[in-house]
Amino acid sequence: MELLNKLDTQLQALAAQSLIRTRRTVETPCAPRVTVDGRELLAFCSNDYLGLAAHPAIAAALQEGADRYGTGSGASHLISGHSRAHVALEERLAAFESPYLVDARALTFCTGYMANLAVITGLAGVDKNTEIFSEALNHASLIDGARLARTGVKVYPHADVEALAALLEASSATNKIVVTDSVFSMDGDLAPLPALLALCERHDAWLVVDDAHGFGTLGDNGHGALEHFELRSPNLVYMGTLGKAAGVGGAFVAAHATVIETLVQRARPYIFTTAAPPALAHALLTSLDIIEGPEGRRRRNHLQALVAQWRECLALRRWQPLASETAIQPIVIGPNDETMRASAALYEQGFWVGGIRPPTVPADTARLRVTFSAAHTEAEVAALAAALNQLERT
Ligand SMILES: *Cc1c(COP(=O)(O)O)cnc(C)c1O
Repeated sequence: MELLNKLDTQLQALAAQSLIRTRRTVETPCAPRVTVDGRELLAFCSNDYLGLAAHPAIAAALQEGADRYGTGSGASHLISGHSRAHVALEERLAAFESPYLVDARALTFCTGYMANLAVITGLAGVDKNTEIFSEALNHASLIDGARLARTGVKVYPHADVEALAALLEASSATNKIVVTDSVFSMDGDLAPLPALLALCERHDAWLVVDDAHGFGTLGDNGHGALEHFELRSPNLVYMGTLGKAAGVGGAFVAAHATVIETLVQRARPYIFTTAAPPALAHALLTSLDIIEGPEGRRRRNHLQALVAQWRECLALRRWQPLASETAIQPIVIGPNDETMRASAALYEQGFWVGGIRPPTVPADTARLRVTFSAAHTEAEVAALAAALNQLERT
């Protein structure tokens, strides 16, 4: 069949460039030690930064939520799917981020991907003369949100505040939206949020912060990037995800109440989808208690200690560890095939480390993306460092 032949040819072309992606089936809960295809592996590739994805108290809360609310929400939030559990979660999340926002409200979403589509299209939709300023290394969901907004998009170079200043200066848009990851997902570094916010305030622009990798891990209380940088502004629109450090799933936007009301009224990725199961919202209340409490602080401290240990034990000559102080510790190898060979060799030795290739990262910067969790031990971190140091020499 002609149609299938065309697809086959394209898949073969991907394979020839070492760009075929495969899925491995995990038999056990998300944790440092997982069973994959009958083998026990030590995993360094999840975004479960605090080790909450299989936490017994959160699992018990999920069961309690199912007992109380059943399994499905049954409809979108604006029809009949908005449950008491969603309201409680919104209030709790608004309280989390209220020190950094003005008149804060929060709104929950099924996924971070949808939250980003909603924020960008929702903010852009109110003015025909909108321009979006997007950081070069932004997550795909932010890029897709900007595309869906069907308005002008300027991409500014990674962490280049001066370049952004020049673009804002030159813009005649009456609605300016600056969009950035806080922790860059494939690099692990932090955006210069204080300088970006100062610029946005000067130019009367929104600053949309995607804190997928900061929520739960950054700040003394785990409130994320805004707490870490001690920011506070009505220009901030904050997006946090709940499937990474929070260990469950979903996402939220926190911002001034008027921004949130605009999203409720206008954002199609909020309006035209079934609300997440209320039991998930109920489980998240326990996750947030842990994040903000002493256990969360202990877990963040341990994670920071592991990252410091890792940076000390790693002794590479050709491969490039990126300058990151977060739980995301990428090592740039360059070519796709060499990167995937390194990932496969580690796998053979019992370590699961993902290889990241274009288009997720720029061409010729394929890398191993090592991520740490508070559930890892010092011995496990030392074992991976020794294996990598050895592997680079062979
Ligand atoms: C994971 C991620 C998202 C998407 O969140 P999901 O809840 O997984 O859909 C958005 N932005 C960044 C930077 C991410 O890493």
